[in-house]
Amino acid sequence: MMQALAQAPVPAPHADPLSIKGFLETSFVDWPGKVVSVLFLPRCNFRCPFCHNHSLVVNPAGYDDIPRPYIMARLTELKEWVDGVCISGGEPTIHPRLPSLMAEVKELGLTVKLDTNGSRPDILQALLAQGLVDCVAMDIKAPLDEVSYARAAGTAVDLAAIQESIALLEKGEVEYYFRTTVVPALHKGEDLLHIARHLSGSSSLTLQNFNAEDPLDPRFKGAASYHAEWLQGMQERITPIIQQ
Ligand code: SF4
Repeated sequence: MMQALAQAPVPAPHADPLSIKGFLETSFVDWPGKVVSVLFLPRCNFRCPFCHNHSLVVNPAGYDDIPRPYIMARLTELKEWVDGVCISGGEPTIHPRLPSLMAEVKELGLTVKLDTNGSRPDILQALLAQGLVDCVAMDIKAPLDEVSYARAAGTAVDLAAIQESIALLEKGEVEYYFRTTVVPALHKGEDLLHIARHLSGSSSLTLQNFNAEDPLDPRFKGAASYHAEWLQGMQERITPIIQQ
C-alpha cells in the first residue's frame, strides 16, 4: 500500500502570500472544550495517503483565497462567541507569514491553536517563544522509525525534527495534544502501543479513525477502517501508558 516517496517542495518565503483557503466560523470539535473558528492554509510538506484534506494539499489553486481583511472583520464580530482560532491546513508551519497571521488574531483578543505535523520545530519554537500560540495539536503519524513514518507520511521524514517538536511540547509551556490517525494498512495494535510508550509522560494521545471516503491515495479509498470498539479498546490501553 505504500506509495512512492517524494520530498514535497516547501515554498520560498517570497513566494508565499499566505493564502487562506478555508474559514469555518464556529467549530465545537477542533479545540477540546472550546468553541473556535478555524482557518485552513494550503499546501503541506507531507503526503499522508489517508489525508482527507488532500485537495488543499495538492490542488490549492482549486480554492479561492479568502481575503484576510474579511476574515479579521468576521473574527471581530465573532469574538464574543468564540474562544479562539484554530489554524489548520495543510501544514501551517511551512508558511513564512504564519506568525503575522497569529499575531493579528491575538491582537483581537482571541487565543490561537495550531494544528501541525511537527516537521518544523524551529518554527514551533519561535511561535512558542513569541507567545503566539496557546495550544498545539501535533500528529504522530507512526512509530518513530524511518520506514514506518515514511509510509504513513507519504514522504521521507526527518525524525529528529519530529522528536524535537515532541520534546518542545512536552515542556508543557502551552496546552498540547498528540493524535494519531489509525489506518489498518499502516498501524497494528503493537504500533499504537509503541507510539504510546514513546510518548509516555506526555499530556495525551488521541486515536482517530481513518476515513476511507476520499483519501489522498486512491488505493486507500473504501479501505476498511478499524471497528470503533477496537479503537476504543486501544485508546483505553494506551491512555495509562501515556499517563505513566
Ligand atoms: S494529513 Fe496533515 S500532514 Fe498529512 S498530508 Fe494531510 S495535511 Fe499534510
